[in-house]
Amino acid sequence: MIPGKQDLWFLPLGGCGEIGMNFNLYGHDGQWLIIDCGLSFSEPPSDSQPRQASRVVHMADPAFIVERRDQIAGMIITHAHEDHIGAVPLLWPDLQCPVYTTAFTGHVLRRKLAEAKIEGVPVHVVDCGQRLDIGPFDVEWIGLTHSIPEPHGMVINTPAGKIFHSGDWKLDDNPVVGNPYDKERCRALANDAIDAMVCDSTNANVPGHSGSESDLYAGLKQIVEAATGRVIVTCFGSNVARVATMARIADETGRHVGLLGRSMIEMVNAAKANGLLADVSPSVDSEHLGYLPPETVLLLATGSQGDSAAALNRLSNNRFRDMSIEPGDTVIFSSKVIPGNETAVEALIARLEALGATVYTDVTSPLPIHASGHPAADELRTMFDWVRPRAIIPVHGESEHLQANTDLARDCGIDHCLNGRNGDLFIIAPEVSIKRDAVRAGRLALVGNKLQPVNPNDSSAQTAPNNR
Ligand SMILES: [Zn+2]
Ligand SMILES: [Zn+2]
Repeated sequence: MIPGKQDLWFLPLGGCGEIGMNFNLYGHDGQWLIIDCGLSFSEPPSDSQPRQASRVVHMADPAFIVERRDQIAGMIITHAHEDHIGAVPLLWPDLQCPVYTTAFTGHVLRRKLAEAKIEGVPVHVVDCGQRLDIGPFDVEWIGLTHSIPEPHGMVINTPAGKIFHSGDWKLDDNPVVGNPYDKERCRALANDAIDAMVCDSTNANVPGHSGSESDLYAGLKQIVEAATGRVIVTCFGSNVARVATMARIADETGRHVGLLGRSMIEMVNAAKANGLLADVSPSVDSEHLGYLPPETVLLLATGSQGDSAAALNRLSNNRFRDMSIEPGDTVIFSSKVIPGNETAVEALIARLEALGATVYTDVTSPLPIHASGHPAADELRTMFDWVRPRAIIPVHGESEHLQANTDLARDCGIDHCLNGRNGDLFIIAPEVSIKRDAVRAGRLALVGNKLQPVNPNDSSAQTAPNNR
């Protein structure tokens, strides 16, 4: 199975029919381009002991492309979320290809590789808007917006056809941190005669617009202004814009910012190193936090999904070394509960309330305090109208999301909607068609420090995506 000069193929090994572990292949003229190499986190098997239960790390089984390693032109990482970047340290040793990404994402990637002691990975840093030949693929990086800095879509040009691979995106005119999306280039994509758009479907079944990061300032500030004790805000550790918004509110309300949680501290460091949080004052070390008057403290903590190892969970169990929650404290969930985590989050909120904290969630807050990073129906329609692709391939979603995206695209007058799954071969050129189950699409689990194939009938193979 080798793509010829007339062929342009898309072959997802992960992330199509599920949210998580994105692993996409594009094939043309004897070579393959990999886009993203991510993880998924699955719940522990229901028969495991609760004390030992922890989430299992899964990723796409790359066997198909490992067998053709000499045909890999390169790997592109669109952005630094775990479901796009997380499997690079685990799978790169079998792939041995050059990796292309932008500065912030490259910073996060190099730290992950160093931590895993993987050496010799050629990470090439590309600028937003840059165009680069990677094997037979001429790739253009297009700046978009999402819930982490520097998300990019790609236009993949080949003599056989052109693809717009969206990556994860939303249309945020004021993303707080980083550049807005490149509206001018997005609008001009209609002139590029894009043959197929491979598109984020996460929120295709949500009406309206995802809202801007900048819209959350008012709601978050209102709660902080009214708070008399400590304020603890939990959000996804990678949401650097949310951190910036909270730091601004802390400054304006006379509070010191503390960061709790390794993933958040590392993301903030990566952002600062790339000039993305220049205006934000340095945070206070957590060992000093317990000594500050409560009304002068604003903590940002990981653990909005009830994760047992996260800082907020330890606070709720009074197992945090440097401080404890007291009556009068306020906890703000600047997040959304990801399906599957409801029970853990409800229990976490109950424990926080039992300690005397007032808890706000996106449901109980009077004004919006969370915005999704993925496009809702109006944004998808706008983008389809700008790009006007000949065909749409919905990805990054479960069945219902892919179907909703297909329906939207049809509504927008796009004739070819190729709704498929991992392992299906989407033929973009010479003729648009789909070859079902062309390749076995399995998954691997990290067990100890070994990768093992996952039995597709294992109930633990359900994904629990780590951000939305
Ligand atoms: Zn993402
Ligand atoms: Zn994603």
